[in-house]
Amino acid sequence: RHKVPLEVGRLPSVRVSYDKPAPGERVNGAIVVLVRNSELQGLRGSMRMLEDRFNRRYGYPYVLLNDEEFTQEFRDGIATITKNEVRYGVLNSTMWGYSPTVTPEETRVKLEENKDRYLYGGSLSYRFMCRFQSGMFFHHPLVRDLDWYWRLEPDVKYFCDIDYDPFVYMRDNGFKYGFTIAPREIRSTVETLWYHTREWVKKHTHLLPEKSLANWVMGTDGHYNMCHFWSNFEIVDLSLYRSEAYRTYFEHLDRAGGFFYERWGAAPIHSIAAALLLNKDQVHWFEDIGYEHPGNMHCPRDAVMHARCVCDPARSYTYRSACQTRFAKVNNMQKARFLQLIHQS
Ligand code: GDP
Ligand code: MN
Repeated sequence: RHKVPLEVGRLPSVRVSYDKPAPGERVNGAIVVLVRNSELQGLRGSMRMLEDRFNRRYGYPYVLLNDEEFTQEFRDGIATITKNEVRYGVLNSTMWGYSPTVTPEETRVKLEENKDRYLYGGSLSYRFMCRFQSGMFFHHPLVRDLDWYWRLEPDVKYFCDIDYDPFVYMRDNGFKYGFTIAPREIRSTVETLWYHTREWVKKHTHLLPEKSLANWVMGTDGHYNMCHFWSNFEIVDLSLYRSEAYRTYFEHLDRAGGFFYERWGAAPIHSIAAALLLNKDQVHWFEDIGYEHPGNMHCPRDAVMHARCVCDPARSYTYRSACQTRFAKVNNMQKARFLQLIHQS
């Protein structure tokens, strides 16, 4: 095996020098996908690219989850894409269901109200999906024993060779949350999310760290600025989502009803939690991983990074994104200052 060090000296956000892991050294992690039977070809495309760019050499298992049984046709279609292990799981009605305080009747009313206000405004399954991705997936029997996960979706693209292990890289550098794209959320989908976040904060100040990235999601007015990490790609140390802080945060939000009566997405929830619970040294922008999900793409413009990629940096959303720029510039915020703004707003 030819050993090539990652040229980290040229990567602006990387602080620690790093060599490729020895063959066989991996974390306890998996690539996790929630997917419908009807999305077989879209997922085959995503897996083909991720296998070719990375995973055929690193051999991480896949965990495919669905709210219905996977068909034989689906399994056969996936089997031709990877020699790595694929584990199939179905969700029960706790994981794929309503929040405890929410009724199907009131949900119907709200979906009707919101159906023309934003994408998926009238979709019930989208609500189940967002709730599952926010607070449930890491408890699933096929996920709960994993330390790390890399989320994958159908119809995404990976443009760059990844010739090191991003999981190991994160672990060895103390990162807990990794992302590629950071857009702005549609405000009307999360109208009361920040109000309920503040309510949770006020009751759980003892669970907050002394310094955090809260600055990234909150302006000096103490309000949410809609910045979030696009969670269709995320590599996460799952201890974040299994922490008491995250668990109580999700339960608080779940009781508030916004997964159904609004359209709270997993992305802003994961992101607000990461920002409030982690500091800057624990969140990593994978600038070297060129990636596209319908709507936005990231293509590295740094010449060394781009040498491994097949994408056009001029088309990259990320260098124009205000939230991305904010992430590059933001400093940690002290807990006392954060709480002061939370109480004032
Ligand atoms: P978007 O990325 O917000 O536009 O939403 P997607 O339609 O891509 O859904 C996000 C992820 O959840 C994708 O991996 C989908 O395959 C999956 N997903 C969405 N709705 C359902 C559903 O009803 N059932 C299943 N099994 N997966 C779903
Ligand atoms: Mn998607």
